[in-house]
Amino acid sequence: MSYDNDNIFAKILAGELPCYKIYEDEGTFAFLDIMPRADGHLLVIPKTPARNLLDANPDQMAAVMATVQKLSKAAMRAFAAGGITIQQFNEAAGGQEVYHLHVHVLPRHKGQALRPPGTMADADILSGHVEKMRAALE
Ligand code: 5GP
Repeated sequence: MSYDNDNIFAKILAGELPCYKIYEDEGTFAFLDIMPRADGHLLVIPKTPARNLLDANPDQMAAVMATVQKLSKAAMRAFAAGGITIQQFNEAAGGQEVYHLHVHVLPRHKGQALRPPGTMADADILSGHVEKMRAALE
């Protein structure tokens, strides 16, 4: 399986599609999932092409996981979370829908189940979550 340059996250990286940006550094970019399964549900991606974990190189994995850790700690503060769930899917059989490597960061609260997938969040709510995360990262 090869990398598709036209996938949605490649277009977000190229600035061709909008996103609710949370953070970027030399190797990674992070933005809110547009159909959040929890408040603050965000995605961390490498800036360079990788279809998923199966073709990513160790440098991409290291950069992505360093950002996942940094943003998980910030999300604990931003959302007064009790914990963080990390999800990462590879190929259709593994649950992957967008074919640019991404790691889900999901702030969690005890006793609160994840919401079902597939429901778009209101723009105002997502903007508020960006503000919370940016404040926690300052
Ligand atoms: P996965 O490939 O990990 O199974 O799922 C892809 C994730 O990307 C889903 O959680 C979905 O809500 C999210 N997603 C799909 N399209 C977009 C989009 O255009 N923008 C953003 N920010 N997230 C998206």
